[in-house]
This record gives sequence, structure tokens and C-alpha cells, in this order.
Amino acid sequence: MAKSTGIDCMKKNAVFIFSENQLGYKFSDTHPFNQKRLTLTVDLLKEMNALSTSEIVAPRIATDEELSLVHDPSYIDIVKKASLETGDTSKYESYGIGTEDTPIFPHMHEASASLVGGTLTAVDYVMEGKSTHAINLGGGLHHGFKGRASGFCVYNDSSVAIKYMQEKFNARVLYIDTDAHHGDGVQWSFYDDPNVCTISIHETGRYLFPGTGNITERGTAEGYGTSFNFPIDAFTEDESFLDIYRTSFTEIVEWFKPDVILSQNGADAHYFDPLTHLYGTMNIYREIPKLAHELAHKYCDGRWIAVGGGGYDIWRVVPRAWSLLWMEMNDIQSPTGDLPKTWIEKWSPESPVPFIPTWMDPHPLYEPIPRKIEIMEKNKQMLDKALYQLRSQKSYKDID
Ligand SMILES: [Zn+2]
Repeated sequence: MAKSTGIDCMKKNAVFIFSENQLGYKFSDTHPFNQKRLTLTVDLLKEMNALSTSEIVAPRIATDEELSLVHDPSYIDIVKKASLETGDTSKYESYGIGTEDTPIFPHMHEASASLVGGTLTAVDYVMEGKSTHAINLGGGLHHGFKGRASGFCVYNDSSVAIKYMQEKFNARVLYIDTDAHHGDGVQWSFYDDPNVCTISIHETGRYLFPGTGNITERGTAEGYGTSFNFPIDAFTEDESFLDIYRTSFTEIVEWFKPDVILSQNGADAHYFDPLTHLYGTMNIYREIPKLAHELAHKYCDGRWIAVGGGGYDIWRVVPRAWSLLWMEMNDIQSPTGDLPKTWIEKWSPESPVPFIPTWMDPHPLYEPIPRKIEIMEKNKQMLDKALYQLRSQKSYKDID
């Protein structure tokens, strides 16, 4: 990988990519994907004195050339055209836009390119050595395909960013996705590429969108063996989730030896999330970034870029989860007590649900699950199966 050109004494620890422009990625007032969660998170971090203006960097807009690192130029043209559409939108449905999931909205192209640009801004900071870590919570749109939108995602910022890191910095990239949905778009973008490793831990596709993400999806051609999937059962709880996450992530990073880690931090594996069936609590969102942070320092000289993703309980879950992520990135000890009262008072009138007043969830958060042991066993067997091949190789070099 190319050597960093940054001047170390000027290097920041982490930058937070954000501007109000990112709120323009909005399908409708009632659509579950709601970037208000960014405002809520920024506000919560500011209340905690955990985010200062000097750490916030505005995203740039990805150019057409950058978008076409992954997306078909004809698809980009379609998105631009659809952005201006006022009439019948059914003609765009074969491109995945104008659908119920991913409706057309004004300035769709610009807003989508700005989310991609945010992730590219984060990449530039880290790969040019201007900061050790960077976060773009507006990104993480992991369902975007080459020539088609899917699952609320128009352009795939992570895929574009990975391709960009390969071309500009000759980097070997590890992508880890803990969104409750399979990170399909990113996986398929690099399915035949041996220099990108994708890991996705998600609720099994048996009953959940997008349906893919089976352990047998291991990559193809030269890229065979660099795609990993860990589909967990509905009703999976913290302990089992974290066991799968820690074991898989640690073993794979140790084997793959990336130059940089890109983590997708969808916050929809929580019990409260209305779109999924996992039973995570805030505990997983405290633990997930800890390990990413540790492994980035151990294997990648600290290079860690984090993006957002899903997260549909925007009041009770996402602001706490993503604040914990930023605090971990900055070595701020994760808070255990109450959320700031001023924050709760400010947003309570708008929230349709009462806030959880503390950083961690009350215990117990839900009734005990009768199938707990069975689910844990099943997940454990899946983990062993999914890692079997990796464990039976001595090292990456042996398969060259
Ligand atoms: Zn999701």
C-alpha cells in the first residue's frame, strides 16, 4: 500500500463527517429511513461535550467518475433523470427506484452522491494520514447495486469507497457489516476480488430482506474465500450476537491482514427495531466498535473508517448506538448513567415513544425467550461451519 503522506504531528485522532445536506436524503415523511437520526445523534454528542465543531467536516459530493467506479453510467443517468421526474415513475422500477421501498424524491441524485461523497471524505482523511479514524454516519447504504437501487439505497457508498481505496491507495480492504440485513450490495461488488474481504453478520434471510447472505456465499473465481456470511437466527440476543461477531471478525482479520477496516454500523439489530427480529440491546452497540477499534490498531496502523446504515428506531436506539461508536473512536469511556436531561426534554415532544433515559437499556428489556439455548446452539454451529475452511488453512500464503 502507498505510504501515508500526512504530517504526523498535525494528525487528528478522528473526524466526524456531517452537514445538514445529508438530511436531504429523504424519501418521504413516513418512510422508515429517516436521517433525522443524524441530527439526534449530533445533538446528543454535543450535549455530552463529546463532539466539537473542529471535529466536524462537511462531506464532498462524489463526482460521476467516482460513482462510476462501481455504478453503470447509464444507471447514474437514470437516477439523475428520475430526480427531476414529476409524472409517472413506473418506468424507473426496473432500476429499483420509484418503488415502494426506494421512492423517487427531489434532488435524489445530488443527495445520494453527497452520502457517497461523505464516505469518500472520510476515506481521504484516513488514507492520506490526516486522521487515524473517520466516521460518516450518513453512509452505509449497503444494498445499492451496480445498476439498480434496492432497500432504501440508491448509490452504494461503501462499494465506491472500497474501489476508490484500491485505485488511489492500492489498499487491501476489510469490510465488516453488522447491520441486521445482509450487506449484499458490497458483497456482490467484490465477489471475485481477492483483495477485498467482506464479512456480514445479519439476521438469516429466511424471513428478512434481502434474503441472501448464506454461509455458502464464499466468493467466486480469484475472490473465492474472501466473502464471509454469518446468518443468525431471529430472536438472537446479545451474548450469541457478540460471540459470532468477536470470533469471526478476529479470526478473519488475523488471516486477511487488511490495510484498512471499513465498518458498516447499521443499528437495526436492536430489540426495538421495527423492521427486524433480532433481540440485541444497547450492549452490542457498546461492544461492536470496541473490537473494530482494537483490531484497526493491531493490524492497520489504526486506519478505521466507520459508516452508518440501517436503524429504524431513530429515537430510542440510533442516537445512543451511534454516539457510543463515536465515543469509542475517541477513547471516551462509554457512559453508563443517564442520558443528558436537556436532550431528552428537547426531543421528547417530537418522539412518538418515551425515551429510554439511560445509556444502557434497562434489564430485562423483554420477556425471556423460551428458545434461547436452541438459538445459541444453532448460531454456534453456523459459526463453526462458516469458519471451517478458514480454520483448516494454515495461513493465507498457503493458498497462493
Ligand atoms: Zn438493515
